[in-house]
Amino acid sequence: MTSRKNTPQGFSTRAIHHAYDAQANEGALTPPLHLTSTFAFETAEAGAEMFAGDRPGHIYSRISNPTLDLLEQRIATLEGAEAGLALSSGMGAVTSIMWTLLSPGDEVLVDKTLYGCTFAFMRHGLQKFGIIIRHVDMTDVANLEAAISEKTAVVYFETPANPNMRLVDITAASKIAHAHGAKVVVDNTYATPYLTRPIELGADLVLHSATKYLGGHGDVVAGLVAGSAELVQDIRLIGMKDMTGAVMAPFNALLVMRGIKTLALRMERHCSTAALIADWLEAHPAVEKVHYPGLQSFEQYDLACRQMAQPGGMIAFELKGGLTAGRQMMNRLQMIARAVSLGDAETLIQHPASMTHSTYTPEERAEHGITDGLVRLSAGLEEPEDILADLDHALALANMQAA
Ligand SMILES: *Cc1c(COP(=O)(O)O)cnc(C)c1O
Repeated sequence: MTSRKNTPQGFSTRAIHHAYDAQANEGALTPPLHLTSTFAFETAEAGAEMFAGDRPGHIYSRISNPTLDLLEQRIATLEGAEAGLALSSGMGAVTSIMWTLLSPGDEVLVDKTLYGCTFAFMRHGLQKFGIIIRHVDMTDVANLEAAISEKTAVVYFETPANPNMRLVDITAASKIAHAHGAKVVVDNTYATPYLTRPIELGADLVLHSATKYLGGHGDVVAGLVAGSAELVQDIRLIGMKDMTGAVMAPFNALLVMRGIKTLALRMERHCSTAALIADWLEAHPAVEKVHYPGLQSFEQYDLACRQMAQPGGMIAFELKGGLTAGRQMMNRLQMIARAVSLGDAETLIQHPASMTHSTYTPEERAEHGITDGLVRLSAGLEEPEDILADLDHALALANMQAA
């Protein structure tokens, strides 16, 4: 592959070519799958030097593997980070990061809204081990400034947040955190590096459930991390190797790399279809409220314009008839799948309060802004007219009941 001198290659070019040389791999266009648990040392001394960190090379696939190495370089370049790390799942990424950065007595400031299992890990997992978790409404960074102290080791948030789409100003939050010596960890699953690059805005670490948009085809569970070479190496050798063992399988790395090749194309379509659906829903008489960063009615519309290249493919909305109308509507859908997960080619719909966010108690959901009537939709890649037709049919009943 020839590269233009001094001009950095574009996003999709790097998503497809970065760090791979076919001629160094028998001319194979697709990178080889290194299906091996362990690696043979040339000599006993060479092995000892690798263990001591004095010699580069692979030792064992719970630490590193050439197939994963390529994926790690790809997520790093796309996020504008020095280094990347591949893990078995998004939760493997969350837990490996936190076990690496925290000690008993440390405080973590987290936003009000978090993905259900991340919430459970923070509240029920980490708190058991003497780590203090405090929820702060980070949609207004003044609340972060008021809550942060010298005890704060990590500031953690999702933007847009799963499921209610709230945004956090990454630049402002990072400035406040760094002034107090805290690290900033951003879950970038919803936006992907195609729409937002948190590291370039000041965050220390970014993580993904690569199960979602990066994999993009609903056929793999995977996680990724990107950040400075030093932090990522710590997470590899402490959080991943010793504390969680949450290593990605080499075959899954190939699936995620295949997904990433078309990320830009897919995100364009996810975004244009979601914008169409959001406008359509907002005008529908059965709909109470639509949460989508591309709508002018969105509370943080200005921040969305500043921080996101496009408003994304996820929509949250509430029907006038609340949960009952939401369930009826979901049951009448014929093409759109009733399923958790997101970012797939298929349009998916789910009910956070009884599904992805049932790890919260009803009181916690009320306190954290996840209403019982909220429905979450992941706009797929089908023809937009077919998605709207399915929603139209399913909402007809709700409309009659609301009237
Ligand atoms: C799905 C998801 C996770 C967890 O990822 P898994 O790959 O399912 O472990 C974490 N954060 C967000 C925002 C998610 O949507």
